[in-house]
Amino acid sequence: MDANATTPLLPEVFDAMRPFLLENFGNASSIHQQGQRARGAVDKARNALAKLFQVKSAEIVFTSGGTESDNLALFGILAPGDHLITTSIEHHAVLHAAEEIAKRGVEVTFLPCDAVGLIAPSALREALRPNTRLVSIMFANNETGVIQPIAELAAITREHGALFHTDAVQGAGKVEIDLSPEGPLAAVDLLSLSGHKMYAPQGTGVLFVRQGVKLSPLFHGGTHERQRRAGTENVAGIVALGKAAELAAAWMAGAADPATGGTENPAALAALRDRLEQGLLAQLPATGVNGASVARTANTTNLYFDHVEAESLVITLDLNGLSVSGGSACQSGAAEPSHVLTAMGLPPARARASIRISLSRMTTGEEIDEALRMIPAAVSQLRSTSKSWKAAMEVSPTFAPA
Ligand code: PLP
Repeated sequence: MDANATTPLLPEVFDAMRPFLLENFGNASSIHQQGQRARGAVDKARNALAKLFQVKSAEIVFTSGGTESDNLALFGILAPGDHLITTSIEHHAVLHAAEEIAKRGVEVTFLPCDAVGLIAPSALREALRPNTRLVSIMFANNETGVIQPIAELAAITREHGALFHTDAVQGAGKVEIDLSPEGPLAAVDLLSLSGHKMYAPQGTGVLFVRQGVKLSPLFHGGTHERQRRAGTENVAGIVALGKAAELAAAWMAGAADPATGGTENPAALAALRDRLEQGLLAQLPATGVNGASVARTANTTNLYFDHVEAESLVITLDLNGLSVSGGSACQSGAAEPSHVLTAMGLPPARARASIRISLSRMTTGEEIDEALRMIPAAVSQLRSTSKSWKAAMEVSPTFAPA
């Protein structure tokens, strides 16, 4: 139950990519037949990604993943003297890239979020400056699943004459994203996606670059990807991503092949997530959901269990065979509480008592039942050895569920 860290490869995705690792191993730049078969497969995958977002295939740039796409968006657009607006709740792929670009002469503003994790459109309006060149605000948060009002934020940015990038690594394949010029997200100029969050392999990704947006490449070399990303294409990975995009589109439309197994659509997955949340809240006092009251991705919940160290809980659950995450995966091992939960105003103790549970499309009702037995037992066990829990119980022995 840690699908926001990475998802399993779907068998159909593996079957699609396998021939391009074995018999069809051509370089897509070669003019011989072997090369042209690889080129054809890359083009087909590009069309599948374009279809997922309802854009032109020329607007799809294949990369090595979410981190590269985010870096390409920021470093490819900004120059010294420009102003970048981003947020304090971004993934480190944007946050640390923004900190680095600030050292290179770009002014950077980090917008705060409110208590549920939302960025206020009014805050964006106030932060815009004459030299604002790019606004980068994530589509859905990796820790809480909270979905930002991207259409509105992008429209404000467009009106001002700046470009808008969204890190949609945790949104793509979970939420319909229509980037067509007539669609609700027509003002989004750049969008990042990562293959390994949508059942394709690690090390694959996309940056959508709207036609007309001039992007300087990060890498210099061949003319691959219309000179936006030099380097021999990862043909098998790209083919896998194309297949994963097709399967994601079918799942979001409620037309997933039953043979694939798993949930039918996002609503069915959200129902499993909600059952898990409600079951935990009903069984455990001093427990709550971070970011519960707003739109979230169907698979994600972030819960606090006061007086429990998230790290101990993650380890206890792991020993029982359940993988969850404390804060984001990249932060595990760090003593600092999650920057996202801290930005939402959680006190450090509550942020340190919070875990992220992220289901996959394949999560079953039986697994939810199992988690509903395992998590309360682990929390109660850890609380029984917690001094602060004992002290809290002395003050209020009938601790009501939060
Ligand atoms: N952006 C978000 C929101 C993420 O959750 C992640 C990965 O966790 C990334 C970017 C980085 O993507 P990748 O692992 O493909 O580099």
